[in-house]
Amino acid sequence: MANSSSQVQPPKAKNLSFENTEIAFKGMSQTDLNRAYWLFKMISSNFLTKIGPPITNFALRIGLPIQPIIKATIFRHFCGGETIEECEQTIENLSKGSVGSILDYSVEGAEEEDVFDETCREILNTIQRATGDSRIPLTVFKVTGIGRFGLLEKISAKYALSADEETEFNRLKNRAAQICQSAFKANVPVMIDAEESWIQQPIDDLAMEMMRKYNRESPIVLNTYQLYRHDKLQDLKADAAKAKAENFILGAKLVRGAYMEKERKRAADMGYISPINSSKEATDKDYNEAVLFCINNIDQIGFVAGTHNENSCRLLTDLLNEKEISSNHPHVYFSQLLGMSDNLSFNLSNAGYNVAKYVPYGPVKAVLPYLFRRAQENTSIAGQMGRELNLIIKEQKRRRKN
Ligand SMILES: Cc1cc2nc3c(=O)[nH]c(=O)nc-3n(C[C@H](O)[C@H](O)[C@H](O)COP(=O)(O)OP(=O)(O)OC[C@H]3O[C@@H](n4cnc5c(N)ncnc54)[C@H](O)[C@@H]3O)c2cc1C
Repeated sequence: MANSSSQVQPPKAKNLSFENTEIAFKGMSQTDLNRAYWLFKMISSNFLTKIGPPITNFALRIGLPIQPIIKATIFRHFCGGETIEECEQTIENLSKGSVGSILDYSVEGAEEEDVFDETCREILNTIQRATGDSRIPLTVFKVTGIGRFGLLEKISAKYALSADEETEFNRLKNRAAQICQSAFKANVPVMIDAEESWIQQPIDDLAMEMMRKYNRESPIVLNTYQLYRHDKLQDLKADAAKAKAENFILGAKLVRGAYMEKERKRAADMGYISPINSSKEATDKDYNEAVLFCINNIDQIGFVAGTHNENSCRLLTDLLNEKEISSNHPHVYFSQLLGMSDNLSFNLSNAGYNVAKYVPYGPVKAVLPYLFRRAQENTSIAGQMGRELNLIIKEQKRRRKN
């Protein structure tokens, strides 16, 4: 990603199958595989996934010793550890399958300035940890990790800020600037996650300012485009035009978007038009068009396809092939979350594509909201569970035969 040259000429991608579970689960011992089986089986129950979060929160509040159980099960599957050091084993395991790690400090929901400073320091530590280590090709942060949600909401709504809030906003911007400057100095790209639409505008503005400053030679700062929003394909194109006119490289992480239900509910409650596409098909269409647009502008855009969607991954590999762009072009990365869609990650990396997985980490209690989201995304209603469980069963059968 950091090298923006398009002159690399590595071999073309090998034949690619997302069904190859031997490659997908090579790094998993039988114990790991059995644990994953029971985990996905349990979270496939919509009932358990619904009652799990309140029961867990209650148990922790009254001091029941359930943290070790969480750590040994769901945390172990979806997270690298509680600290950067504890992630080493995961980084090494992924790297054995030629998959990079993206250390993601997943502490959410803070409100206090000293916590924001601490989170900023931790993100700087992830950049430092990635420096010179090819196993960690990208880094990431969330703006709500370094600043108050309510403040971003107020700015998004274009309310005037008080003098104190102006100072608070300056502190937030300074933290973001520190992170991006450090990424630039270390030559390690940093992605800025996208969040709820009603706080996104100041995040987009901040990301643009940082790209203008640091993306002169290569895509160091990447903003995230949520293609479930009906305005985001257009924004991507407008930002690319701006980058071209102002002579910098656009950094883009393409995702569908994680807050659909919340977005729709808020729009309905408050009586405005939902920013979300009216159907899954419309989101898929925008996502795939965004991929095509980035490929057609590959010299001017460095992008990460953050998706578990097989068709979108396939589309991207086909486009690279068709346009005779090398499979490991530095401007193109595939990315998935740890513990999900290993059939995509490891088969893509095995075929010669650039792949990196988010490796969330942080104290068990603090990453619970992240874990609950993963559990909810993997229920039978959300659909991902079927995919994960079927692949695990297929691999168990294959191992039993051999
Ligand atoms: C590496 C990585 C980084 C990510 N970073 C972010 C981030 O910064 N911000 C963020 O918000 N999310 C982020 N996500 C989550 C992402 O936005 C998706 O929620 C998740 O990946 C599921 O989408 P998919 O492309 O994998 O596949 P799919 O399973 O094909 O798509 C599911 C998605 O489609 C959309 N969708 C589903 N039903 C409908 C419908 N009826 N109408 C319209 N749209 C619909 C929703 O976005 C839903 O999440 C990230 C995901 C990955 C893998």
